[in-house]
Amino acid sequence: MDITKLLRPHILHLKPYASARDEYSGTEGVFLDANENPWGSITKEAYNRYPAPHQKHLKEKIAAIKQVAASQIFLGNGSDEAIDLLIRAFCEPKQDHILIMPPTYGMYEVSAHINGIAVQKVPLAADFQINTEEVLETITPHTKVIFICSPNNPTGNLLSVTAIETILANFQGIIVIDEAYIDYRSDASWLTRLEAFPLLVVLQTFSKAWGLAALRLGMAFGSEDLIHILNKIKPPYNINEVTQRLVTEGLVNEAAMRSMVKDTLQLREGLALSLDEIPIVEKVYPSETNFLLVKFKSAATVFQYLLEEKIIVRNRSQVVLCENCLRITVGTPSENKQLLVALEKFSERQDRE
Ligand code: PMP
Repeated sequence: MDITKLLRPHILHLKPYASARDEYSGTEGVFLDANENPWGSITKEAYNRYPAPHQKHLKEKIAAIKQVAASQIFLGNGSDEAIDLLIRAFCEPKQDHILIMPPTYGMYEVSAHINGIAVQKVPLAADFQINTEEVLETITPHTKVIFICSPNNPTGNLLSVTAIETILANFQGIIVIDEAYIDYRSDASWLTRLEAFPLLVVLQTFSKAWGLAALRLGMAFGSEDLIHILNKIKPPYNINEVTQRLVTEGLVNEAAMRSMVKDTLQLREGLALSLDEIPIVEKVYPSETNFLLVKFKSAATVFQYLLEEKIIVRNRSQVVLCENCLRITVGTPSENKQLLVALEKFSERQDRE
């Protein structure tokens, strides 16, 4: 499938904004092109110059780590920006739709609605796996993008490779695999399969395992043609200077990330076992991520009680297939301890009542 046929026609013919820094790539010179303040900034460090619009250095570093070409990387202000741009590039408002598999990450639906795009929902099965047949039956010529989150938020599991392969083989649109949590199961990434599937986009982020959520840096990987489209429609300076510099420097510390992942995985197993022993806990779902989906007898009351104890978790009990479930991020040993102590106290109180 030729990707230009999938693209909204006006995007295909769009003349992108040429930023002031597109015409000269050197770092030395007299820069009178971008109406910046030449004196410096009001802060200790100088931020008066616009950041690199195409993030060349950062992309080269990421390319080496991820073993893909720099031309196959789009960088966004969080992966949320990539989600929005993918929808805007391929979906015509009031005409096209995206397909999602709830329960899943909320921004696919929100981004679609912001852009006037309808959302087709094919819920996961009771075991949190893809209802493949139903997905294939739901697809119409107006289904342009399918979002698959693996490992999935909030269920924590990886989605079946065979199911995803079946969808890839039968769908002529864009398939996005959101791997926000893949660093907790790096062996399961789809990044190695980009060449085989030209319409596949893999999303990853620096917000989770890398510990850089505040810097807002997300990645989309795909064919050169597809990434070119995202770069063409992104705002010119979408990744700020501080983020570009700090992440470029920080990437030499991949080992530190791996070490945090190792600690998190160990703590997750301990936390899951301890939660399982608390009487108000009905079920702790298996997880491949840095969070646990936990089913309680009454999630709403537990959620409220934890809030009073200043322990904030995510209430997912209104979400399909997640009735009475809270999503709990694995914290530090002392944070996990506080959570367990609070839940044990609440459980004993319930026992007495
Ligand atoms: N995808 C998933 C599955 C997520 O859980 C999140 C954040 N919670 C994101 C994407 C967004 O990440 P970012 O911080 O890169 O925008």
